[in-house]
Amino acid sequence: MRLPRKVARVTDALPARRLLLVHAHPDDEVTGTGATMAHYVAAGAHVTLVTCTLGEEGEIHVPELAQLEAKQADQLGGYRLVELSRACAALGVTDHRFLGGPGRYRDSGMMGLPTNEHPRAFWQADLDEAADQLLEIIKEIQPQVMITYDENGFYGHPDHIQAHRVAMRAAELAGDAGPEKIYWTAMPLSVLKEGMEAFRELDDNPFADVEKVEDLPFGHTDDEIAARMDGTDHYDQKVAAMRAHATQIPDNSWLYGIAGDFGGEFMGVEYFLLAKGERGPGEGPNNWESDLFSGVKTI
Ligand SMILES: [Zn+2]
Repeated sequence: MRLPRKVARVTDALPARRLLLVHAHPDDEVTGTGATMAHYVAAGAHVTLVTCTLGEEGEIHVPELAQLEAKQADQLGGYRLVELSRACAALGVTDHRFLGGPGRYRDSGMMGLPTNEHPRAFWQADLDEAADQLLEIIKEIQPQVMITYDENGFYGHPDHIQAHRVAMRAAELAGDAGPEKIYWTAMPLSVLKEGMEAFRELDDNPFADVEKVEDLPFGHTDDEIAARMDGTDHYDQKVAAMRAHATQIPDNSWLYGIAGDFGGEFMGVEYFLLAKGERGPGEGPNNWESDLFSGVKTI
């Protein structure tokens, strides 16, 4: 007689805390969530990054590679795949996937451009089909926490808006098996205001054309923000991951100016809105959460 065997679940082999991030292009993982990813990897959580496109329509800031661009050799996507794997290595992230496999969805380019109409453009993706692909990953990993963008894709890029829609639809389809908490990347207006003051002195001031902080296409009040992740210990890893995306972030970028002048204070701290789930206990004057898993059952 055969004894029934206990069925091993995939998650039995994974750490108790599991974080899923859904981003639009290679490099998006670093700028808004790099310190948070490195923080959770170092803390022993399982971090899964899903990138929806290869970023084929990006500009190229490395002159020797200029001919790879979409209008010429159209090889940028393949190159960015390598940049992304280097960035993941810098952050310590070992579980990285492309939605539907590399090349399934193409970078749609900025809103209103003809590239939005490409048959493989992520903007044209069938929502349920794309969400089903993410649902498979959710079922496999069973993340308690998911991070993506708000409904405006943080700043209005069609692929970021689509990443939001796909991630939210997949979580809905997953029902009770979906993530307990969902966060959207955010930037407090108060921090932007401070930044505008501080950068006034810089030669390469990213806010030079901005009169008021309210004119920026992003920014939330302190009340709306739910979590402040302090990843300043992982600031070096975040900068290394930014450097891995050399075609996208030029050596003389204001981002490195900030990194040099303000260090971890600005680059190592990341903010989030809570879109689903109970807010856990917070700290500081705004009672912001300092751990995205706070209040989550991690079994
Ligand atoms: Zn992007």
